[in-house]
Amino acid sequence: MAFEPGGVVVTVVLRRRHLVCPLCAYATSARYDTRPDASTWRHLDLGIWRLEVRAPLARLRCPTHGVVTEGVPFARAGSRFTRDFEDLVGYLATTADKTTIGRLLRIDWDSVGRIITRVMGERLDPARLEHLFTIGVDPVTP
Ligand SMILES: [Zn+2]
Repeated sequence: MAFEPGGVVVTVVLRRRHLVCPLCAYATSARYDTRPDASTWRHLDLGIWRLEVRAPLARLRCPTHGVVTEGVPFARAGSRFTRDFEDLVGYLATTADKTTIGRLLRIDWDSVGRIITRVMGERLDPARLEHLFTIGVDPVTP
């Protein structure tokens, strides 16, 4: 754990023995190589401090997805934010607009949209409209 001018950085190391593809369930113990730089994810703030999680990661060769950086349990594939951070954005998106969320969590407007897309892609039930048979639309006249 390090206190830096931009906030707090927590460096973690994965303890599992197998490398896991971030896009599917493929796991292997064969490492393709080790990334030269550690990956960093933005986590929920610690009070006024910005918190980042950093981890050195390896790459693996997935038979379906090719050479990819190993997946981590605390972040979604392709994200620079932790799963907890993204879940908070997803929760706030149910009641607040993107500008408000961006100001509250100190992220830009485009990041809010990308996070909402990832969270809804994972959490939204694809069968939610299967038993819907009637939709009523009320016209609103000013
Ligand atoms: Zn894969």
